Order: sequence, then structure tokens, then C-alpha cells
Amino acid sequence: MTKCPVCGVNFQKGDYESLAKHISQLNGKNDPFHAGFIKDYVPMDNPDSPQFPSKLKAFFQLPGNSLSDWMASVFVNRFYGDKPHQFMETMQRPKKSIFLGFGVEYYFFLKQKIKSLSYVIAKTNYEDVQKFEARIITPELLNDGKENPSQMSLLFKMCETLGVNKDTIATSSPLPPTLHSVKLWGTIAETDPWIEVMASMNPLDLLYSPKIKEKGAKTFFYGDSVLTNEWIPDQAKQFLSFMSDPYNDFAFEGLKLLEKYGKELDATESVQAVFIRSIDALDRHLVARVTRARQYEGKA
Ligand SMILES: [Zn+2]
Repeated sequence: MTKCPVCGVNFQKGDYESLAKHISQLNGKNDPFHAGFIKDYVPMDNPDSPQFPSKLKAFFQLPGNSLSDWMASVFVNRFYGDKPHQFMETMQRPKKSIFLGFGVEYYFFLKQKIKSLSYVIAKTNYEDVQKFEARIITPELLNDGKENPSQMSLLFKMCETLGVNKDTIATSSPLPPTLHSVKLWGTIAETDPWIEVMASMNPLDLLYSPKIKEKGAKTFFYGDSVLTNEWIPDQAKQFLSFMSDPYNDFAFEGLKLLEKYGKELDATESVQAVFIRSIDALDRHLVARVTRARQYEGKA
């Protein structure tokens, strides 16, 4: 079975003709999301042309039959290509406000991530998958930062230093793009098979993986000088160092598990579709971090 990478409707396995027809029909009705998919991934002057299905099929074709290589390459093109995402650009020479924008919006992402990965554990019977997800979420639930750090504890310390405390974050609301994305991930977690829940969340860790440059990324999610820049607070440096520590990097291990079980369960196409939906949601959430930072400008 394949799915629409934009709205998730189902099609027969390998039926790119019907998928192409669906996408071009909605594009014709000026649906911005389906039109956006064409623009971002299969740019064509005329998506009604007979070449569209074969171009679409070519986009989903796996290089060397490797799902993990395909995901890494799509991810790099989307966020780390010649024109990096505006969040990454902002983080090259960051103002203090971006650390607040990052921290506050990311808090809501992280809460959903813990839930989504818990759904994977609950829905799958494969122990290797359960253990993998448990390794990621356990520190976030149990490490309060007093003895052992976690993303959550370091995020709170970073924001507190910049003037926004834990209670303020926990009782605030995310900006609409983050809220919309979190809702999408929540719906996928509740309703879709475990492998799709996994595909919606684990690959997003590629954003912070120190190995992403080996896959062609032109930059990283923070500039080279950030960790040595003396006016950047230590708490922000600690947060970034923890996020990008190879010891905490589970991104490629997650891709390999998706590749393995995608083959075994004949679910590769649906994994690809959910992955695309999910990186679009990530994109919107990253824009919200930058928007949030602007709101803090002058205050931090
Ligand atoms: Zn669709």
C-alpha cells in the first residue's frame, strides 16, 4: 500500500498513476499543500503532463535499494541543502532570542515525541524496536538534570537563564504552526501502525545528528563559532552540545530499523509517505521557532 505524502489517503502498492492523478487534481483545485509537495519534491511546469507519474515514481525510487539513504538524502535536500532552512540560517550567528524561540517551541515538540515513541513501544511486538525507543525516552522522563542531563532539563536551564522559567513554558501555548504539527504527530501516533508512527518521529533526529555532514549537509544546526562565542550563555552551549553529542545520536539507528522492518512488513512505501508528511510538519515547527524568537527580541 502506498499513501499520499501530503494528506495520507491510501492507494494500491506501487500505483503511482493514481497517486499522481490525486496530487495533480488537488493541485488543480489550488490546494496549497499538494501544490507545495510538487514544488518541493517533483518540480514540474505542468503536473497534468503524462510525465508526472514517472517523475513521481522516480522521486520515491530508493538509491541502491536503501530506504535509509533515501530518507537521509531527502532530509538533507530539504533542510541542509544549498539554501538551508531559515532556522539553521538563524542559528549560524544566533542572537540570544533564538535560543528562547528554540527552547519554548521545542518543549512542545519534545512532549509529543515522548508520547509518539511510547505509542511505538505499545503498538509493536518487536523487542529491538521497543528497546531502541526506550533508550531515547527514558532519560527524558527520568533525568531531571540534577545528576544526569536530558534534553528537557537542559532546555529548561537554557530558557531560565534567558528569563523564561519552567512554569511559564509549561503553562504557555505553542505558536499555531507547532500546534498544527504536534496535532498531526498525535493523530498519526493514535491511529496509524507502529512503523508509521516511528517513521513520523525518529527520522526527525537527523536534524541534530553530527553524521549529517557525511550525507552531504552543507551546514549544521548551529554555527561553528557558537560553542566558543563568549557572549552565548553556557546553558545554551550545554543544550546544543548535548543535542549534538554522538553519544545521544539515535538518528541513523532509527533509519536502519525503519529500513529493516519496512522490508519485512512490506511497508516501505507507507514509511516514505509518512516521512514526507512529517518533515513538512517539522519545517513548519522550525519556522515557528524563528517567529517565536522575533517575539522575544529586545526582551532576551
Ligand atoms: Zn493527498
